[in-house]
Amino acid sequence: MLQKSVIVLILCLFVSMLSFAPAVHAASISDLVKTIGAPSMEAAGDKNSSSNFLENIFNFVFEKLLNPLLGLSRGASTPEQPANSLKSVTQSQPEGTDVKQTSNSLQGKTIVVDPGHGGSNPGAVANGTRESDHNLAVSLALQDKLRKAGAKVVMTRTADTTVAPEGNSLSTELQKRVDIAEANQADLFVSIHANSNPDSKIAGAMTFFSQSGSEPLAKDIQAALVNTTGAKDRGVHAATFHVLRNTSMPSVLVETGFLTNAEEAALLRNDVYRSKIVQGIFNGVVQYFDNH
Ligand SMILES: [Zn+2]
Repeated sequence: MLQKSVIVLILCLFVSMLSFAPAVHAASISDLVKTIGAPSMEAAGDKNSSSNFLENIFNFVFEKLLNPLLGLSRGASTPEQPANSLKSVTQSQPEGTDVKQTSNSLQGKTIVVDPGHGGSNPGAVANGTRESDHNLAVSLALQDKLRKAGAKVVMTRTADTTVAPEGNSLSTELQKRVDIAEANQADLFVSIHANSNPDSKIAGAMTFFSQSGSEPLAKDIQAALVNTTGAKDRGVHAATFHVLRNTSMPSVLVETGFLTNAEEAALLRNDVYRSKIVQGIFNGVVQYFDNH
């Protein structure tokens, strides 16, 4: 009975949040339906179904609603940056910012790069951009850069597909990404995303971690990302995302910017800006290994 009360309470919270955030993108709603409706496919004996149900609601509320809202109140110390120049679209790598390229701290390291969403789940869709496409483009370039610096890189996906076979529950899809990291005994797990918010004025980058051991990695990546992109610094935040909570190595989820902000969406589609994102995440990873 207590659990039922808690569920009702959470649903009320969710509905009340929706009432002042009516523009939550359609994918969120379908995610919720899928998340809540789908039977959990997680390993038997993990948790009973009602706690999974609760956990799924919690995860949804945290990932899709609380975190974007949290972004409103934290990490807002730096002023809004002007849009970066879009002039040299064909130029792929800003060599001048490649300071960390010579470090050999990535030799022998296994890094899992996880492009968020994919296939039937595009994630946020706004201003003509699908999050899953942006995530993949950034992730593939990051893979390339990390490999050139000597890291072994394992991608959870390299095309516009889900990671688990289509039709599986969201928790199975996310667990599959965790399984890849665990099977490869990865040293780091980096999940790449783009954000959305009902308020189209909200812009900036933020990085999430779950276990406290991952906070230094989150801080290094966030600092380097803001440094190379000039994005508004929305800080690092603890979160309960499945892929962060269930990986045993340091793991972060990078929200590279807000697709719902027209100006930032234009940047996120731009190859030069994407290469700055890649350079920032790369620098943060190198910084992390240099210090740990
Ligand atoms: Zn996402």
